[in-house]
Amino acid sequence: MNAGVDLHLHSNCSDGVLAPAALVEMLASSGIGLFALTDHDSVAGLAAAAAAALHHGLACVSGIELSARWRGRTVHVVGLGVDAAAPALGRGVTARRNLRCARALAIAARLEQAGAPGEAALAALAGVEVPTRTHFARALVALGAAPDVAAAFERWLGRGRAGDVGADWPGLGETVATITASGGVAVLAHPLRYRLSAGQRRALVAEFRGEGGAALEVVTGGAAPHQVDTALGLALRAGLEGSVGSDCHDPALPWHRPGRLAKLPEAVVPVWDRWVAEPRRALEA
Ligand code: AMP
Ligand code: MN
Ligand code: MN
Ligand code: MN
Repeated sequence: MNAGVDLHLHSNCSDGVLAPAALVEMLASSGIGLFALTDHDSVAGLAAAAAAALHHGLACVSGIELSARWRGRTVHVVGLGVDAAAPALGRGVTARRNLRCARALAIAARLEQAGAPGEAALAALAGVEVPTRTHFARALVALGAAPDVAAAFERWLGRGRAGDVGADWPGLGETVATITASGGVAVLAHPLRYRLSAGQRRALVAEFRGEGGAALEVVTGGAAPHQVDTALGLALRAGLEGSVGSDCHDPALPWHRPGRLAKLPEAVVPVWDRWVAEPRRALEA
């Protein structure tokens, strides 16, 4: 049962629009009972999310979404149950933040070359700890260079556009190791969103499992039923557990709304069993 579970969410500590406390309040009114805040390369919102969860009577797992490199591409690995104070996680966050800051300069320069107000957008990012393309997209909208965020990605920042600048993120294996060393379990995020052939995708999932990954995000925000089936097949084939996460950045965008996720198919073991089933088993023993 996962009515009420959402293990992939963003706050304004990365590229979400809501502060952690406001996000948790929204989750409480959406019928979510167990959640993980998983900001990109940041643990800055976890303490506030945990406090708000206590206030609203929700169960909360500490999370993060780490950027990783696999065969020259960017993939995302969610860490669940991490210790936010673990030195390994601190090193991983610092390394990625440095990469993001250097990359933000490159994105600004590339946007300028392409005729967009990249430097002005960069100036609007002052004080942002984890600069992402989403921040650039919002800044370009504010500067009148695009009518909305979707259009800003379409024209300037999405795949193959001027502002689609890569980064030499730590590799997949190192990323899984960082999460494991921090007491967490690694979940490969939105496995169908990477532009890969079916064979490459199976290779990614198998390698993730081989490196110690625990679960695959089988149900992700906006996925169609056949996509859930495909992701389920990938998880079962690799012997991975299943996770569910809306990847919500903005509750105003209905397709990523928490509380409206498909059910995790029963064929796969829920990754959250380790947090909710353990006490039950302990009571039954
Ligand atoms: P970054 O990690 O800086 O490359 O930024 C990636 C983030 O941009 C993702 O986590 C999404 O939140 C957002 N994003 C990527 N592609 C799109 C898109 N086509 N439309 C809207 N948001 C997008
Ligand atoms: Mn994002
Ligand atoms: Mn992601
Ligand atoms: Mn995400």
